[in-house]
Amino acid sequence: MRTPLIAGNWKMNTDTAGARQLASAIASRADEAAGTELLVCPPNVYLSLVRDAIGDAAVGLGAQNVYPEANGAFTGETSTDMLCDLGVQYVILGHSERRHILGESDQDVNKKTLAALKAGLRPIVCVGELLEEREAGKTSEVIRRQFEGSLANVSEEQILSTVIAYEPVWAIGTGKVATTEQAEEVHADLRNQLTSRYNAETAEKIRILYGGSVKPDNAEQLLSQPNVDGALIGGASLKADDFLAIAAAG
Ligand code: PGA
Repeated sequence: MRTPLIAGNWKMNTDTAGARQLASAIASRADEAAGTELLVCPPNVYLSLVRDAIGDAAVGLGAQNVYPEANGAFTGETSTDMLCDLGVQYVILGHSERRHILGESDQDVNKKTLAALKAGLRPIVCVGELLEEREAGKTSEVIRRQFEGSLANVSEEQILSTVIAYEPVWAIGTGKVATTEQAEEVHADLRNQLTSRYNAETAEKIRILYGGSVKPDNAEQLLSQPNVDGALIGGASLKADDFLAIAAAG
């Protein structure tokens, strides 16, 4: 069985005091989420203080992006080595806000995925269709293209360290959650693609998270789907109560 992963994507939110408070609140109640893996992904500038606030609690630390180089002359960027040095275990890559606001392509996401894996970081690779793509019946084509492009040249050993997140763009931050059927359909499709690319045994081990307006009141239904192995949570991850209630539903 796959252990559900409940990941909080704090995006560009919190401040010093808020990040410390949120991380401490989650860490102090991490035992409420027994049987699930908890992960918080604060902004890079707060990674150290969040790591310290977590202490020995069973809460993982993730980043929201990385530059695909170990170090060097890349002004303003954060390297894979720096994340490892800070004790970061996971990194969210290809989030739709980076794809659509910052213009990241599948090729960019692929470079970052390969660099993260090489450095020993576990990528959470996001895919998801726009509303117009869904309405045009192109969801599965878009997801396939993003899967192929973002995960090109990822070996079987590396895919075992990788997490995939399906985040329909129209559901992110909108309060408009995908139905359980819509989510399960894409998740099952992604698992089939993993089976075709690797094999069924490997595909069964990979966690596929759902993201997009996950809240305490819809989490249980989504997480009960056979191919939904956790959640990537934006807004609701900024409140310890909501985040832990979602984890408890897993
Ligand atoms: P949301 O964001 O939960 O606020 O919809 C999800 C995400 O962007 O990862």
